[in-house]
Amino acid sequence: MDAEETDIIVVGMGPGGEDAAGRLAEAGLHVTGVEANLVGGECPYWGCVPSKMMIRAANLLAEARRIPGMAGTATVEPDWAPVAARIRDEATDSWNDKVAVDRFTGKGGHFVRGWGRITGPREVTVGTPDGGIRVFRARRGILLATGTEPSVPPIRGLAGTPYWTNREAIETEQVPGSLIVLGSGAVGAELAQVFARFGAQVSVVEARSTLLPAEEPEAGELLEAVFTREGIAVHTGARAERVSHDGRAFRLSLAGGMALTAERLLVATGRRAGLDGLGVAAAGVDSAAGAVPVDGWMRAADGVWAIGDITGKGAFTHVSMYQAAIAVADILGQDGPPADYRAVPRVTFTDPEIGSVGLTEAQAREQGLAVRTGIARVPSSARGWIHKAGNDGLIKVIEDAQRGVLAGATSAGPVGGEVLGALAVAVHGQVPVADLRAMIYAYPSFHRGIEDALRGLATA
Ligand SMILES: Cc1cc2nc3c(=O)[nH]c(=O)nc-3n(C[C@H](O)[C@H](O)[C@H](O)COP(=O)(O)OP(=O)(O)OC[C@H]3O[C@@H](n4cnc5c(N)ncnc54)[C@H](O)[C@@H]3O)c2cc1C
Repeated sequence: MDAEETDIIVVGMGPGGEDAAGRLAEAGLHVTGVEANLVGGECPYWGCVPSKMMIRAANLLAEARRIPGMAGTATVEPDWAPVAARIRDEATDSWNDKVAVDRFTGKGGHFVRGWGRITGPREVTVGTPDGGIRVFRARRGILLATGTEPSVPPIRGLAGTPYWTNREAIETEQVPGSLIVLGSGAVGAELAQVFARFGAQVSVVEARSTLLPAEEPEAGELLEAVFTREGIAVHTGARAERVSHDGRAFRLSLAGGMALTAERLLVATGRRAGLDGLGVAAAGVDSAAGAVPVDGWMRAADGVWAIGDITGKGAFTHVSMYQAAIAVADILGQDGPPADYRAVPRVTFTDPEIGSVGLTEAQAREQGLAVRTGIARVPSSARGWIHKAGNDGLIKVIEDAQRGVLAGATSAGPVGGEVLGALAVAVHGQVPVADLRAMIYAYPSFHRGIEDALRGLATA
């Protein structure tokens, strides 16, 4: 079969791939964009965008429930129908990517629907939905952006049951009566709170000792207190051993003999890079680590770049787009600084929002830094006290005491993800702690808590 010539083949058009492919096409390259499912990827159809629409609705309910004792009376009757409709009509266009495909082709890109596989140096073979095969050969190379899929643990009995992943949870037209959420990272925590606020009886099962185990333990403990108050049953340090489904309900057995039952089971135990069947070894890429190793310019091998979740540098849309810009510049032969991941911001959009940047205290200590930490509680601040109902939160700062700069920070609270902006600038810009202390913080803002946390910096 004759290969079709192109400048660059982009395999996978999630946020990273779509952005890079569009920019390269706009720069005048002949770009072949290959997508097996929907252009836009996980984020707009089953991830960031619809989940944040759910969260916005759930937060409205929570605010209305806070009215008594603060502003009068309110009767709250949750209705999932407008949420499902908004996801269907506004976020996903009924899971149709025509607008995104047209956006790419409008920039001069050449779109191919199908599963791409590397079959040789600078060569990708695509199996198209109609059973056809097309082979593409790229003059400049291949950009891999194939993202991640849910990682499903090998729990006895789980395979074969109708469990949910984020996809079914986002697509649901109905709130289940009861729900077990397995895993309490950002995805599990966000969706647990959404469904609980819409009336589901929710249990969260987490093997580690705190919720949000990748974050500061204080943040996980704070969230556990809020979840418990809202009626979510939290089981931390709990190992799931067996799952069964009798046609109507799930039964999840935990180590130690306890068992939970619910109408639905959401598996939210992390993500795995979808490298299977991608043929990366044919391009000289070692994928043994479960991610595609890249250098600072996103080069994975001669003529191969990789961006997004598959690089293992942070499974966030903003990381995939940051890397897309760097890869595009490199492909176009433009000079630029290498990727710098010291200040990757991450936000779990629960209420309170949990934002963090840079290193946690544990990571800083593991790296051998001379660590000092400071923590301030939002309810103790002027703004937190004024805010009253729903004021749970904290700000924690991690100082690299030897250099006198922040190595990391956490901001949890009603607008924790927004307060994080200031902390991200401090970590990214390596602003001296002495300068942060000398700044003026607006009264009575939530971000003024940063000043309190800095004041709390104590010798480790
Ligand atoms: C519920 C949920 C909520 C989230 N919320 C946030 C959030 O608030 N903020 C945030 O920053 N991140 C969030 N994320 C993470 C975010 O969605 C991902 O980090 C982001 O989508 C990764 O982008 P990507 O470009 O690496 O790949 P993906 O979005 O995973 O897209 C990869 C694309 O490649 C395609 N593909 C794979 N293999 C092939 C192949 N061989 N051939 C052709 N096509 C292929 C796939 O079909 C897919 O469309 C969330 C994720 C989930 C699940």
